[in-house]
Amino acid sequence: MFEIHSRDRGSRARSGTLRLAHGDVRTPAFVPLATRGAVKTLEPRDVAALGYEMILGNTFHLLLAPGPELVDAYGGLHEFMRWPAPIITDSGGFQVFSLGHGGVADEIKGRRRSGQTSGSILGIGEEGVRFRSYLDGGVRFLSPETSMAVQAALRSDIALVLDECTPFHVTREYTARSTERTHRWLERCLTWHARHGPAGQRVYGIVQGGIEQDLRAASAEAVAASGCPGVAIGGTLGRDKPQMHEVVGWATAALERVCPDRPRHLLGIGEVDDLIAGVELGIDTFDCAVPTRLARHGVALVPDPAGRWRVDLAKAQWRGSREPVLDGCPCPCCTAGFTRGYLHYAHRARELTGARLLTLHNLAFLARLMSDLRAAIDAGRLGEVAAALRSGAAPGVAIAAS
Ligand SMILES: [Zn+2]
Repeated sequence: MFEIHSRDRGSRARSGTLRLAHGDVRTPAFVPLATRGAVKTLEPRDVAALGYEMILGNTFHLLLAPGPELVDAYGGLHEFMRWPAPIITDSGGFQVFSLGHGGVADEIKGRRRSGQTSGSILGIGEEGVRFRSYLDGGVRFLSPETSMAVQAALRSDIALVLDECTPFHVTREYTARSTERTHRWLERCLTWHARHGPAGQRVYGIVQGGIEQDLRAASAEAVAASGCPGVAIGGTLGRDKPQMHEVVGWATAALERVCPDRPRHLLGIGEVDDLIAGVELGIDTFDCAVPTRLARHGVALVPDPAGRWRVDLAKAQWRGSREPVLDGCPCPCCTAGFTRGYLHYAHRARELTGARLLTLHNLAFLARLMSDLRAAIDAGRLGEVAAALRSGAAPGVAIAAS
């Protein structure tokens, strides 16, 4: 299922190809989100034309609407949304537990104190999680088996097991108990999938363990021992980037020991510096809402490390600007000559075309970044290319210049 082509000598980075039911995915790769069955503002052919070979569908949202029965009646998510290439689906655990632990994502990322619950989660037990639908207020239940059944109906190429997404502001004892439950849920997911899973669908286990080095290592060993063909890294990764890189490093160091040849996915991470660091730590695929969400907020990705690789075109300073979003960028937005001034106007006027143009630009930026990193690994030049990108070289330019 996973062929490794080259390994970097100075880090854990590797390049490879995932061979999946609906095609191949070259790695390391970023995976754009098609949360509710659409990469917002784009058509599947736009996403493919940018060079993407896999997208991520969200089990939690698709469970609530349109529902797995309807998608199944179309022959699965590929047919329903007309995306013919590989799809990875998450388990729904992250969204369900975000409901229980406060703001979506904030608590998981350590930015918010616990205790502020939305009231949408009704109970977490050994069997699963009961929660209230944000659409109709109806009570729903997500268990390891129901998560796998939904993903079977969606017929994704890669399904993720249901995990308890351990938040940041909990005790070590809570994290340890939660991680053990995740391992029991992993076994239930694999048992269900062995009996009922669609042919060709691969299941990734999830490494939890919070910010505890020994729990991350033990979780990596448990996931490897379960025999699942791929591994995702989830849960809280700490309060800031240095801690995140350290926690991911603990997990990949353990995985390198116990299952070095299995593919690794890092859940919910996709800022430019984190992608570079993640590749060096041995991550093969990443998914994240950031590039597409930023686009809808008028923010473009640019090679500016001091500005967090962002320029906010919603700001008044861009009114009337003739500057391109990024000089020399080969994306459909920049090659067509759209200016920062036009995108500023389109964002302020809430014209959907503006969101679409910036989505194309941002996804093109990350596609070229990942392509540079793959080429650099293959050429044995990851160290210099990563350094060039970190100091502000544009993707494409970085690999050519270094
Ligand atoms: Zn562009």
